[in-house]
Amino acid sequence: MSLAEIRHRLTQAEAASGRAPGSVTLVAVSKVQPDARVREVLTEGQRVFGENYVQEAGAKWPGFRADFPGVELHMIGPLQTNKAKQAVELFDVIQSLDRPSLAQKLASLAQARGKSPGLFIQVNTGSEPQKAGILPQDLGAFVASCRTMDLSPQGLMCIPPEGQDPVPHFAQLAKLAADNGLPQLSMGMSSDFETAVAMGATHIRVGSALFGARSPKS
Ligand SMILES: *Cc1c(COP(=O)(O)O)cnc(C)c1O
Repeated sequence: MSLAEIRHRLTQAEAASGRAPGSVTLVAVSKVQPDARVREVLTEGQRVFGENYVQEAGAKWPGFRADFPGVELHMIGPLQTNKAKQAVELFDVIQSLDRPSLAQKLASLAQARGKSPGLFIQVNTGSEPQKAGILPQDLGAFVASCRTMDLSPQGLMCIPPEGQDPVPHFAQLAKLAADNGLPQLSMGMSSDFETAVAMGATHIRVGSALFGARSPKS
C-alpha cells in the first residue's frame, strides 16, 4: 500500500474518532526492507521511522539522515544493555524500555551525555512469559523508579498477543498510561491501527502494510 493510502486511512481514522487531524504520528517500520523502498518513502515525505535492530539501523540511517533532514528514528525492538550506548547515539526515541537494568543503563548514559532520547515503556499487556515488557502490575513501581533516576518516560508501548483481539490490550494500555501520568500511547500495527487510533493511540507502528511483506531475517 502506498504511503498516501496509509496516510489517508489514518486521517479517516482520526476523523472517525473525533481526534484532531495530525494528532497521531505514523511510525513507518522499515526493518529488513530494501533501502530503495525506504528511500522512496522518504522521498514521499515520511520522516518518522521505526527499526528493530541496532546494527541494521546503524548501517542505513546515518546515510539516510544525511540525505533527508528531519528524520526521527524510533527503536522498537528489544534492546540489549550492551548496545544501549550505540542506540542512544542512533535513535531519537526508544520505545522498548522494558526492564530495570536497561533503565539504569539509559540513566547513566543520559547523565554522561547530558541528554536522553525520548522514552516509551514497553508493557507486556498479555503477561506472556516469552515476551519483553513490564508486567501491568509492576508498572507503577517501574515508572517511579525511572523518575527517581531522572528518566522521563513520555508514554507506553505494547504489542498485543498474536491472534488475540487487541481491543482489551489497547484499553489496558490507555488506562495504565492515564493512571501513571504518561501522555503518549504507541499501539496499533498494520492490521489494527485504526482500532488503536479509536482507542487513543498517539503513535502507530506500521510496517508490512506500507512496505510490503518482510522477507524473514536470516
Ligand atoms: C515489526 C514491528 C511492527 C510492524 O508490524 P507490521 O505488522 O508489519 O505493521 C510494529 N511494532 C513492532 C514492535 C514491530 O517489531
